[in-house]
Amino acid sequence: MDIGGTNLKLGLINDEGKVEKHEIYSMEDLLSHSNFIDALILCLNKFVGQNKITCGGVSSKGFIDSANGEVIDDVSLGKELRGFSICQILSDKYKAPFNIENDAKCYAWGEYKFGIGKKYKTFCCITLGTGIGCAYVDSGNLFFGGYPWGGVLGGHVSIDRNGPKCDCGNIGCFEMYCSKNGILRILGESMPSMLASPDPIISFFSSVRDGNINSKEVFNDFLRNLATGLVTIINLYSPNAIILGGGIMNSSDIFLNELKEIVSERAFVVSGLECSIEKATLGNYAPLLGAAFLPKMEN
Ligand SMILES: [Zn+2]
Repeated sequence: MDIGGTNLKLGLINDEGKVEKHEIYSMEDLLSHSNFIDALILCLNKFVGQNKITCGGVSSKGFIDSANGEVIDDVSLGKELRGFSICQILSDKYKAPFNIENDAKCYAWGEYKFGIGKKYKTFCCITLGTGIGCAYVDSGNLFFGGYPWGGVLGGHVSIDRNGPKCDCGNIGCFEMYCSKNGILRILGESMPSMLASPDPIISFFSSVRDGNINSKEVFNDFLRNLATGLVTIINLYSPNAIILGGGIMNSSDIFLNELKEIVSERAFVVSGLECSIEKATLGNYAPLLGAAFLPKMEN
């Protein structure tokens, strides 16, 4: 399962990594129940039906203590998962081992095992979704650093010290500009009428395609902010590739080529040793596959 800020995604995956069934549920609906875990188990029971779970993987937003199978900190909806071992509860319920890992790490691992990440040994995976997720695969291993959240904080590098304050405590974080919530914040300030649309992000990118001058101005800032964040991450990790995923990449046809040009002008590279920028290939399946095939599960 993949527990995100907006949706819960469930997948039934066979031993070869084929997604046999996939469903999406609204987190808002689940959180409206008095007990989130009870609501989650009801959902799972319905989804699994007569199938038997032989092992389960949980991809979750937030900082994850995978050794104890729990979410240890989160600043928003995921706080419902703090303070108890979700893996222990699910393992007891389904009589099968469960593991949990940060959603960006699961996304990166899914792409590494089954997607575009197979081409690379060392890469950063950055998900442009409700927030910005980040994970680093270092020579075929997920990077953890000194604490369980090592590698996931790429969305919280500052790209403007005069920017707004982020919930994480830092100022002008990358995700305050280039995530879905970041773009919504900026549209609220500069093009508030856009927020009336059913999907303001899609409407915004459509208006850029249609040549709207105001949208183009906001878009140019978005592109430069995105490049600034990526250049910082490339210079920190020296990855062979950056793999970009998340809902905002659904509109990448209008920014990916230009983004590559700006990044290649600004990131430190030696001729012939450039960092590739790739679009993720698995979409919603990436975190599900990553969670199901975490290295721990295969051992
Ligand atoms: Zn932050």
